[in-house]
Amino acid sequence: MAIEIHQNGQARFDFVDRSLIRACVHCGLCLPYCPTYKLLGSELDSPRGRIYQMRMLHDGKISVLDDNFQLHIDRCLNCRACETACPSGVQYGRLLEAARAVIPPTSETERVLREIVLNRVFTTPLLLEAMGIAARFYQKSGLQTLVRASGILHRLPLNLGRLEALLPRMQGGIVKASLPEVIPARGTRVHRVALITGCVQEQFFSLTNAATARVLAMNGCEVIVPRGQACCGALHTHGGERETARALARRNIALFEKTGADYYIINAAGCGSTLKEYHHLLADDERWAERAHRFSSRVRDISEFLASIELNRDFGEIRRRVTYQDACHLVHGQKISAQPRELLQMIPGLELVEMQEADTCCGSAGIYNITQFDLSMQLLERKMNHVAATNAQIIVAGNPGCLIQLAHGVRQRRLPMETIHLVDLLDRAYRARKS
Ligand code: SF4
Ligand code: SF4
Repeated sequence: MAIEIHQNGQARFDFVDRSLIRACVHCGLCLPYCPTYKLLGSELDSPRGRIYQMRMLHDGKISVLDDNFQLHIDRCLNCRACETACPSGVQYGRLLEAARAVIPPTSETERVLREIVLNRVFTTPLLLEAMGIAARFYQKSGLQTLVRASGILHRLPLNLGRLEALLPRMQGGIVKASLPEVIPARGTRVHRVALITGCVQEQFFSLTNAATARVLAMNGCEVIVPRGQACCGALHTHGGERETARALARRNIALFEKTGADYYIINAAGCGSTLKEYHHLLADDERWAERAHRFSSRVRDISEFLASIELNRDFGEIRRRVTYQDACHLVHGQKISAQPRELLQMIPGLELVEMQEADTCCGSAGIYNITQFDLSMQLLERKMNHVAATNAQIIVAGNPGCLIQLAHGVRQRRLPMETIHLVDLLDRAYRARKS
């Protein structure tokens, strides 16, 4: 990235390949699909408007310190619905990530998030583990109930009180369940796969990881769970901390190469999307570009992998009405939408009801529900209207962030609904079979 500061305080940034910006022909066909444009009705909060502002920045006509530029870039969800809608193949996600990387934190909350949470906690496995234990202790010891009843949460700084309300029900006990390093295939081994356990996923949803390993084993996979995995760097890439993301990517590539696995399986859509794009992240790094490419080509979302193999259909019955929320980084980031639905329809007794705007962001979007709380809650409100209209008993999604956000919506509305990862439902169906 070349940066040139002019005397008038403006900066010219070669922050991204100009051809990526020029790919946008300003047709506006993406606008009706952009959640922030639909919500705010402003061209500057649309994909076309944001790309135009990036072009102005690139040409040195506006400064990266311009409040308006920061505001509209910050408001973007990075949901990539505009990419799906764009007939010109604009790679909006790459543009946004490059723009975010040159914008300094715009609020104290964001500064703390980037400097302490993303660059320290998420890069240090011991700190991440400690954070997980503290959060599980807080929730499972009864302390959370006491704190909520005391009213102290409303007096905390940095909006910590309303963020606490987003804390999901964490799976397992105070000590989380951990998986063995190798889980043998049930029956004949057909595939050898490595499971990417994730960082938030591992701390909050360790039972979903265990269910993923069981479902894979049920389908002839020997599952390797490499020790010492690093965070995938998705939150860093989306939040502008690209150097940290690159360091994490190199650690993961080196670790997974050693497994000799055919595929690297991930059950978190946001992480999967980033892992499949390590070759973009490390494109300028001569020593790692080729290895990053090989790594990315082996990554599969769990639904994508299961739908591609001859699936063991020995499912028991689950008589439930379910609706499916497309995680943005699955449907738009990885173009995976048919596979999860196909898998759901294989479960006997299950009725799949489509909600309106299933492929529109729920407002979770990485750390968006922390940095843009009000907009995030407005998006959730709209989503929950669509969810409620289905009368479903279960909401299924393939990403921890969406599950946390949707569970918050369910709690707020006191809906009689369960939120669950697709792979947990498949695991439940296997366990419901009469043996
Ligand atoms: S991003 Fe694509 S759809 Fe949107 S205005 Fe540009 S060319 Fe048109
Ligand atoms: S990523 Fe989502 S919020 Fe951002 S411009 Fe594209 S459609 Fe709009």
